[in-house]
Amino acid sequence: MRTCPICEKGNFIKVEDIILEIEGYIFILRGERCTHCKEEYPYEEETSRAVTTARKLGVWPEPLKLHRRLSKSSGGLILRMPSDIEKQLNLSENTPIEITKIGNKIIIEPVVA
Ligand SMILES: [Zn+2]
Repeated sequence: MRTCPICEKGNFIKVEDIILEIEGYIFILRGERCTHCKEEYPYEEETSRAVTTARKLGVWPEPLKLHRRLSKSSGGLILRMPSDIEKQLNLSENTPIEITKIGNKIIIEPVVA
């Protein structure tokens, strides 16, 4: 078993119920999930299969919608940024962000310097 690089506490277990939503289409992917922080890592081939299917359906995988659970720390609730969004938007730990609440939705935007 591999130890989770995010929380360094949990181990990865194989799961078959990672939910990926592309433009309203739901894809269930196989992959691994951390037993501690619940971070999900769909297998590469599973993600590309979903993307290929989405393109056949005429939808482009933007916006990317991933399901995450908030975790608790002493200071409050923590949202882990999915690593693909982190890479796509070139985010780092010092990136200033703006949080906008619209109804029951939350928009998180990196502030461009
Ligand atoms: Zn973890």
